[in-house]
Amino acid sequence: MIIVMRRQAEQKLIDHVIQEMITQGLKPVPLIGTERTVIAVIGDERILDIHHLRSLPGVSDVHPILKPYKLASRETKYENTVIEVNGVRIGSEEIAIMAGPCAVENEDQVEKTASSIKKSGAKILRGGAFKPRTGPYSFEGLGKDGLKILRAAADRHGLAVITELMDIRDIDLIMEYADIIQIGARNMQNFTLLNEVGSVKKPILLKRGLSSTVTELLLAAERIMAKGNLEIMLCERGIRTFEQETRNTFGLNSIPLIKELSHLPIIADPSHATGKRTLVPPMARAAIAAGADGLIIEVHPQPDEALCDGDQSITTDTFEQLVKEIAVIAPAVRRKFTIKS
Ligand code: PEP
Ligand code: MN
Repeated sequence: MIIVMRRQAEQKLIDHVIQEMITQGLKPVPLIGTERTVIAVIGDERILDIHHLRSLPGVSDVHPILKPYKLASRETKYENTVIEVNGVRIGSEEIAIMAGPCAVENEDQVEKTASSIKKSGAKILRGGAFKPRTGPYSFEGLGKDGLKILRAAADRHGLAVITELMDIRDIDLIMEYADIIQIGARNMQNFTLLNEVGSVKKPILLKRGLSSTVTELLLAAERIMAKGNLEIMLCERGIRTFEQETRNTFGLNSIPLIKELSHLPIIADPSHATGKRTLVPPMARAAIAAGADGLIIEVHPQPDEALCDGDQSITTDTFEQLVKEIAVIAPAVRRKFTIKS
């Protein structure tokens, strides 16, 4: 970290800053210039409170060198983290495809979706049993019955299960039925929930908050990792902007950015990112071309009758076609995806 003192800051103010650094266990190296003094600080600066430092008398500016997150950062671990689920090595050169309905509605819907996505080449079945809804009259999911339906269909077709955990009280239940625990966008800053999934032994898919920055997403991942769970996949699912034509604005640029900043896999969710069925295949293709490690896509046998997110759900036929296109794009960007059920 570099601390820039104000022009002609008095020596006692410089000494005060130096003393603070020593007290924190860091090594301050003052560089005395003709006009101002700059203090280079050696050691792990992430323990410092930058706002406090900036407010110290005599301090003009503070420039951190390290990212505020550590375990999630590529500065700390250069190689990609690879998470193996159902034979797919997520974060390696392989592309992971997760697909299924927004919400589990009934056995027939999940069975039709599972058998179809499996034939298309997906290995992971998604479906919500606990749905985060703001209004109290919307469909909130089937709870435990939904988890049972999802698990049974996945087992029949050799698929893994990803489903959302909304509440700490459901953690044991979700642990029993899921292979990947999804933390939804609305819960990216539910710090107690993040702490809790930090101590389980199951991969986590952490979705970007509705209006969260990439740094905040990485800090939320850091929180889970700091509790011991290092198997985190990040998910770009769009953020709220002033645009009204789409549900969200897809942060396509966050995909290569996150690959630069972090070793964790990044999964794209073009369904929630666009909110519009016709935009899902082009944005899915774009995400893979941009370097995403995988996709999570809402697929429904009859999207117009879906109880949740029908507008952004694609049919099983559209999904089949999309997967074929992904298999063509993948090798062009030095990735692998082979369709075999
Ligand atoms: C979902 O995956 O259905 C969902 C609710 O996603 P998000 O948390 O990204 O809105
Ligand atoms: Mn949804």
